[in-house]
Amino acid sequence: MKTQSKRKTIAIDMDGVIADVESQLVKYYEQTYGITTTVEAIQGLSGAEAFPEDSATKKMLNVPGFFRTLEVMPGAIEAVKKLAEQYELYIVSAATEFPLSLLEKIEWLGEHFPFIGWRNIVMCGDKSIIDTDYMIDDHCKNLDFCSGKAIMFNAHHNLRQHHHTRVHNWQEVLALFESFNDQA
Ligand SMILES: [Mg+2]
Repeated sequence: MKTQSKRKTIAIDMDGVIADVESQLVKYYEQTYGITTTVEAIQGLSGAEAFPEDSATKKMLNVPGFFRTLEVMPGAIEAVKKLAEQYELYIVSAATEFPLSLLEKIEWLGEHFPFIGWRNIVMCGDKSIIDTDYMIDDHCKNLDFCSGKAIMFNAHHNLRQHHHTRVHNWQEVLALFESFNDQA
């Protein structure tokens, strides 16, 4: 049986949106390479510019535990709960690039977002298959191809991209959705 919600749908990314990857990368970079940087110092830089040592970003993302121990973005749990009252939410993560992350991400969601059921968790590769009314993400490679309204979550690597609606935090996400005035 096909079930179809009449509520509008939102695809919510994990890394850089509900999970704080920037501070984890800064921490792992210091632990792995002995090089100290800060979240403030990497603003406006690409991943390669922020962590230039030895293809560091990709290596750090493959370290067991990296995704399981991410901090939750400030205000994300409360805001996602609030949006869930009105919208059908899907957590959508292009996780197959990092196979180790798959179970870690499911466990992380179970710990921090237990109110998101397994039907609403989508682990994928190419997000252009996602057909939600809204997409909240930090990467143009996903937002540029979404069929719904794109909402760019601020991140160190996307400060030079200006063609999507930008939000800086979860309070701004809630304010933006209030302005849409969608019917429940
Ligand atoms: Mg992301």
